[in-house]
Amino acid sequence: MKGACLCNGVRFRTHGDTPNFYQCHCSLCRKQGGASSNAATFVLEENFSWEVGQEQVSRFTRESGFTSHFCSVCGSPVPNPLRDTGFYWIPAGLLEPEPGQTVVAHIYTASKADWESLSPRGQHFAEMPDFETMFQLLHQCL
Ligand SMILES: [Zn+2]
Ligand SMILES: [Zn+2]
Repeated sequence: MKGACLCNGVRFRTHGDTPNFYQCHCSLCRKQGGASSNAATFVLEENFSWEVGQEQVSRFTRESGFTSHFCSVCGSPVPNPLRDTGFYWIPAGLLEPEPGQTVVAHIYTASKADWESLSPRGQHFAEMPDFETMFQLLHQCL
């Protein structure tokens, strides 16, 4: 799959299977994206490559370790390595959509904003399920 930020200055590609998406409803993702939740996926590090613009990526890390990587020109959240897991985190909205992709999980639903109505589509988790569960859900064959 191909992906790009709002200004098109940061571009990347994923290889391998076409992943599904999850949405995180935690208060940090809410601040980061300015919306009720984010939508994202993970791919194996070896299935991710930058095309251009890696040098225009800035980052912000909170004391807790929560890190946000974003395009320093347009502010879009951009992919980043998921700590030391061997995976890359990818914001769904940057990807060119492919048929069949869907939201398979909602996480941190216990922290959702009072003003948000949760979609019934996908599994709901009050917090973060274990990584293996998430990975299986995201990479079920489409
Ligand atoms: Zn940009
Ligand atoms: Zn979150």
